[in-house]
Amino acid sequence: MSVTPFNESRPHIEINGIVKSFGGHTVLPDLNLSIAPGEFVVLLGPSGCGKSTLLRLLAGLEEPSAGRIRINQRDITDLPPRSRDVAMVFQSYALYAHLSVADNISFPLRMRNPWYYEIPLISRLMPEARRRKQERRTRAAEVAKAVDLQNLLHRKPRELSGGQRQRVALARAMIHDPSVFLMDEPLSNLDAQLRAQTRAEIIRLHQRLKRTFIYVTHDQIEAMTMGTRVIVMNQGRIQQDGTPDDLYDAPANTFVAGFVGTPAINLLSVKVSAAGLQLGGSPLAGTREWLGSALADLPPDVLLGIRPEYVALGQSGLPGRVDLVERLGTEQVISVVTEGATLRVKLDSERRYQIGNQVFLEFDLSRAHLFRSDSGARIELARQETALGKTA
Ligand code: ADP
Ligand code: MG
Repeated sequence: MSVTPFNESRPHIEINGIVKSFGGHTVLPDLNLSIAPGEFVVLLGPSGCGKSTLLRLLAGLEEPSAGRIRINQRDITDLPPRSRDVAMVFQSYALYAHLSVADNISFPLRMRNPWYYEIPLISRLMPEARRRKQERRTRAAEVAKAVDLQNLLHRKPRELSGGQRQRVALARAMIHDPSVFLMDEPLSNLDAQLRAQTRAEIIRLHQRLKRTFIYVTHDQIEAMTMGTRVIVMNQGRIQQDGTPDDLYDAPANTFVAGFVGTPAINLLSVKVSAAGLQLGGSPLAGTREWLGSALADLPPDVLLGIRPEYVALGQSGLPGRVDLVERLGTEQVISVVTEGATLRVKLDSERRYQIGNQVFLEFDLSRAHLFRSDSGARIELARQETALGKTA
C-alpha cells in the first residue's frame, strides 16, 4: 500500500472552538484539540458525553453549530464526508448481508463509479468499467490480506464470526487509504477474549499503516491499555489530555480520578488544620509532614483521594471495621468503615478477613491526591510549595 508522508511538523487535525447543539441542547460547548500526524488518540468518557458526536463531526456526518475543523492544514468543515480523507468504523459493523466479504470491502470504491458501470451487460462492453472492476478486486484482496481475511473473500457476513465481521469493517475503512481512521467503540459487540485480541490487532494495524487513529471508548481499561494519549471527556468537555500514567498518577480532577482505575479511588472529605488533615474526629497520621509548607495555603475543607491499592491494613493507623470482603482470585477488595466513611482497600488474597474484623488503615501518602471540595480540581502541592517559597 502506498503511504503518503505526513508533514510531521504541523498538526494533522485541528479542532477549533467546535460547538454542537441539537435543538436547544448543547452537547459540545467549546471543543479545542490538536492531533499530531500518526498519533493514536483515545477518547474516553461515559455514555452520552459527546464522543460519537465529535467523531461524526470529524467524519462529516454532522455539521457543527460553530467552529472549524482542519485536516492536513485544509479547512474541511464544509466538505462532504467523501472529500475529507477520513474513514469511520462503527460499533455495529454495518455490513451488507447480501454481499460477499470482497464486495463489502470494496463497496466504497463501487460508490465512486457511474451507476451504469454496475449493469453487467454494459460493464462487460466498456473497457474502463472492466478495468475498474479488476482494480477493485485487487485492492480488496490487498486490504483483506492486511487484516487476515484473504481466505474468506467469498463468504457472506452471516458465515463469519463477530471478530471476522469487525475485520471486514476495518478493511472497508482501509480501502481508500485514508489518512485518518475514526473508530467508534469498534469492539463493543465482541466477547471479552476476542476484544483483547482485536485490541492488539488494531494497535498493530496502527503501527503498520502509520495513519492517525482516533479511537472512542467508554471502557477505561481499554483506553488505558491501548492509548499513548487518552483524552477524558465529560458532558462535552475535555477533562484531561495525557498519557495513561498521567491520568492515573495525577488526575486533573475528581471526575478523572473516579473514572480511571478499578476499584475506584477513595475520595474522603477531610478538614484541614495546623496539625494536618482530619477525617471525622481522627487526625490522619503523617499528613502534616506530607503537606509541609503547602498546608497553610489549603482551604479548610478538601477531598483526599487515595486509590485502594495504596491503602494497607496494618498494626497501627486509622481504626476501622471490615464491612465487606470481595475475593477476586489473587486479589481481594476489603471495604472498611471508619469515621462515617467507607474506604476500599485492595490487597493480595493471602490473609483472610471477616466482616466485623477490627483493622487499622495505613495510607501511602506519597500516592495520595488532594482536590478542591467545591470544583473538584486537583490541588498541585509541589507548585504551592514553590509559590510559598517565593513570597516568603
Ligand atoms: P457518546 O457517544 O459519548 O455516548 P453521543 O455523542 O452519542 O455520546 O451523544 C451525546 C449527547 O447528544 C446525548 O445526550 C445524545 O442524546 C445527544 N444526541 C446525539 N445525537 C443526537 C441527535 N441527532 N439529536 C439529538 N440529540 C442527539
Ligand atoms: Mg457513542
